[in-house]
Amino acid sequence: MMINRAEAEVDLSAIASNVKRIRAIAGVPVMAVVKANAYGHGLVPTAETALAAGAQWLGVALLEEALALRSAGITAPILCWLNPPGSDFLGAIRADIDLAVPSIQIYEEIVLASQIAGRAARIHIEVDTGMTRGGFLDEWEPFVELIGKSHDDVEIVGIFSHFARADEPRVEQNAQQLKRFTEMSDDLNRVGVEPALHHLANSAATLVDASSHFDLVRVGIATYGLTPDRENLGSSQSLGLRPAMTLRAKLHLVKKVPAHSYVGYGATAQTERDTVIGVVAIGYADGIPRIATGAGVLSHGKKAPILGRVSMDQFVVDLGPASQAKAGEWVTIFSSGEDGGYTADDWSVASQSINYEIVTRIGERVPRVYLQVTR
Ligand SMILES: *Cc1c(COP(=O)(O)O)cnc(C)c1O
Repeated sequence: MMINRAEAEVDLSAIASNVKRIRAIAGVPVMAVVKANAYGHGLVPTAETALAAGAQWLGVALLEEALALRSAGITAPILCWLNPPGSDFLGAIRADIDLAVPSIQIYEEIVLASQIAGRAARIHIEVDTGMTRGGFLDEWEPFVELIGKSHDDVEIVGIFSHFARADEPRVEQNAQQLKRFTEMSDDLNRVGVEPALHHLANSAATLVDASSHFDLVRVGIATYGLTPDRENLGSSQSLGLRPAMTLRAKLHLVKKVPAHSYVGYGATAQTERDTVIGVVAIGYADGIPRIATGAGVLSHGKKAPILGRVSMDQFVVDLGPASQAKAGEWVTIFSSGEDGGYTADDWSVASQSINYEIVTRIGERVPRVYLQVTR
């Protein structure tokens, strides 16, 4: 029997509860964004749970993610938005996957694939309203002219864009992007193209800006119970969200070390007093940030801070001189925080990152263990 040294427990009832909360706030259909292995939570179990809880769409970055959902028997509409030229558009059309169109080159490849398939690709026109990343910008006028002339080979399902700073609700750029989105939608209408679905909002905009909801919201991080920005938008708890992932690993060793011992590569930390350290069996190969001073683990209900740098497969924590911890026991690296321990938000602050990166980077070596939805 294989016994795990680390596991990411995913509480599917938390995901279901988050989707229901988002639906209530949004008041329009919800697309659960499940790209990147559902932000580390597991693609298919997350997608099935989100749909059962009332999400009507799934969103992914890559075609292989969309095809994996179809292979799992999922029939809900799926939008896929990161398909460079040369992607298997024919395969996407045959699998009934909606495709983002951010350039004339990609549009032309999708038209060609539709002709070969003998069936219209379902497309969502992606426009750059100020993030300066995906979507039409310099080619917008010629594209409007092109698609206005003829679009028989495709079914134009939607127009969409993405916010750069929705997690900072007070900044002017949000209003500017919203205005530009409406203008670009109007440009299409003027040439007789009227997509049924306008969508712009990510999690942050869904939570705080009803004027951005339009016909559909695309919600990633909030699905997993994490706040898009703890400082500007409040904690998961204050938003009514339940963090779904708890990451645990085993103590590989527990040992007494004297005061003034240097710990780890580069000797960047030193014990202040005689203490007990724990060696935790998970490291940066598993997605733990290499530098996360200020984070740690929960052992016997007490916080044990990290000492020094995280290694590839392990890191060291200060359990304290009176610790009763034993090698082989589980410690919690992050959780919802209800246990008094560290959260993904705490780890993101400690590593100068964001909670998105903390959960998404948990690697393949860490098995996901699911708590099923209880009814
Ligand atoms: C990732 C992504 C989202 C989801 O963003 P969250 O902040 O996680 O809600 C929505 N739309 C697009 C285009 C994305 O790439």
